[in-house]
Amino acid sequence: MMRAVLLGPPGAGKGTQAARLAEGFQVPAISTGDIFRANVGQGTELGLEAKEYMDAGLLVPDSVTNAMVRDRLMQDDAGEGFLLDGYPRTVDQARELDAMLVEMGVSLDVVLEITADVDEVTSRLLKRAAIEGRSDDTEPVIRQRLEVYAESTAPLTSFYRDRGVLVQVDGIGEIDEVTSRLVEAVKSHSS
Ligand code: ADP
Repeated sequence: MMRAVLLGPPGAGKGTQAARLAEGFQVPAISTGDIFRANVGQGTELGLEAKEYMDAGLLVPDSVTNAMVRDRLMQDDAGEGFLLDGYPRTVDQARELDAMLVEMGVSLDVVLEITADVDEVTSRLLKRAAIEGRSDDTEPVIRQRLEVYAESTAPLTSFYRDRGVLVQVDGIGEIDEVTSRLVEAVKSHSS
């Protein structure tokens, strides 16, 4: 059981690791990017709204994103724990998450930040582009996403460090190796 947030730049391996951790700890992985992409695929109103921002490498507006996460966290399966992947991504979102957790009467056990340098993540994303064809994995959009990360999301590192819940994990290495590091980090922080 855990309540955790996974941070890290695009291409750090959040999605891959989130799926593994969620299975290991028996909690739902809640990925805002996946939820947005599913909505784009289904052509919902939410998807139509999100698509233009995603394709430009920009953040979907907080009003849309926060409401979506709130709905998801209030579902039964998140009551016992969750792993958030891709949210929060701004300090404002982090404050909004705080408010949701207060309403739920729970708190975060740990914030895991997967670290990887810009060259590594860029080359991973370009490789993925060739395989998966995600519409935001083109070079200019990757550059934009990394800029948004540095500007809007990186400040969350000190936000959560100040609270004593941050653990940084090296994202370079074999997938299994990174998973083990994350599992150890969770174990050292779970109640
Ligand atoms: P990556 O981390 O590789 O950029 P994600 O799947 O997490 O991939 O996100 C893809 C896109 O979805 C983002 O560029 C953004 O447009 C949108 N998105 C995801 N999460 C959020 C969020 N918390 N706030 C705003 N936009 C988001």
